Amino acid sequence: MPKIFDIIVVGAGIVGLTVSAELLKRQPRARLAVLEKEPEAGLHASGRNSGVMHSGIYYGSDTFKAKFCASGARRMIEFARAEDIAVKQCGKVILATAEEQLPTVDKLMRNAHENGIRAERIDSQQLAELEPHAAKCVTAIYCPDTAVIDSSAVVNRLKEKLALSGVEFIFNCQVNGAHGKGFIQTSHGEIGYGYLINCAGAYADVLARYFGLGEDYALVPFKGIYWKLSEPSNYKVRANIYPVPDVSMPFLGIHFTRVISGEVYVGPTAIPALGRENYGIFQGIGLSESLNIGLQLAGMYWRNENNFRKLAHGEMGKYRKSNFLVAARRLLPTLEVTDMVPTDKAGIRPQLVNVKTRKLEMDYILASTDHSMHVLNAISPAFTCGFSFAERIADEAGL
Ligand SMILES: Cc1cc2nc3c(=O)[nH]c(=O)nc-3n(C[C@H](O)[C@H](O)[C@H](O)COP(=O)(O)OP(=O)(O)OC[C@H]3O[C@@H](n4cnc5c(N)ncnc54)[C@H](O)[C@@H]3O)c2cc1C
Repeated sequence: MPKIFDIIVVGAGIVGLTVSAELLKRQPRARLAVLEKEPEAGLHASGRNSGVMHSGIYYGSDTFKAKFCASGARRMIEFARAEDIAVKQCGKVILATAEEQLPTVDKLMRNAHENGIRAERIDSQQLAELEPHAAKCVTAIYCPDTAVIDSSAVVNRLKEKLALSGVEFIFNCQVNGAHGKGFIQTSHGEIGYGYLINCAGAYADVLARYFGLGEDYALVPFKGIYWKLSEPSNYKVRANIYPVPDVSMPFLGIHFTRVISGEVYVGPTAIPALGRENYGIFQGIGLSESLNIGLQLAGMYWRNENNFRKLAHGEMGKYRKSNFLVAARRLLPTLEVTDMVPTDKAGIRPQLVNVKTRKLEMDYILASTDHSMHVLNAISPAFTCGFSFAERIADEAGL
């Protein structure tokens, strides 16, 4: 006899866990299970990110990201404080180092105003008081509410609390297909459900296709690799130093983050990758998946969609430390090559491309059938958004 649950959540990353917490609150008697293909929670994006609680300044007010970022950050920080998890409200600066970035600075300030986010324009002198080693700027933005958090501790505590409240976690359980009404195929055999929520991160589009959804999207993974500042040189960064981003891209550009442990990370890159879990050079490359992704990337390169050639050349070059250093020095000119030491920290951003419009999808996408909800394109800052986004997912699911 297959196991049967009222609600199944697929994926034990931040989205699956916060959705489970929300559902437990709404339906405490429901038999709720979280299915996760790995042996523990948070082994992918949710355990490999920069750990920054973003303010929400990058996102236009009509986006899901803007709606959930500031409130999600507040709730995540409250959760961390209540659970004794390390979190630090350290603020961040966004540096405009060239005149042509000024229109984007204006746009970010408008976003801040419309999204109710605290942000102020500062000059070089004020910047020097906050970050004495940062590059000279044309202008800068100071966001006092940006925080850093121990994201793995958040994931683990959420998992523990849910398990203690009766949520069944089934690890090493990969969902491989769906058939009929209310049954999925998994590596543990067939499992039944009343309602299923797909929070499978980099594989959410694959799962959605088992339910006849997501045909309009193709996935292109981007690899984020980091360097770390050596201990003697990490005094050069007090908190978070970011560049003005290219707002047509869902990436923020190489930046400096003093993470919760006190270490300073530089990165991440957005290097086109050949697999959804291609964390190393060859790790996570599989023939059929890599072929599909490779064809997708080749098409984007050929058609130069979203200025993809420039992005690809610039980012691929960052496999070389010297090129990485050039990008990092735009924010921190005194950085020396010996200041940067290797780290194995790497993450993958599972970015969806709309195959009809040929554009990168910039926001979260919810797609549903009668008995299932699929969370697609849960890209940054989905960690920050977690608790608030989960409410919306549960509302849309009608649970
Ligand atoms: C380099 C990098 C830096 C980032 N920095 C930040 C940041 O500073 N702040 C921020 O807010 N966000 C940041 N993000 C984004 C953030 O980490 C992600 O948006 C968020 O973690 C996504 O959560 P998720 O639960 O959707 O995905 P995941 O954490 O990837 O979880 C999905 C889970 O589903 C499981 N799964 C997949 N397929 C199946 C299957 N078939 N069966 C069963 N289980 C399955 C996976 O094993 C995984 O555990 C960053 C991301 C990256 C890559």
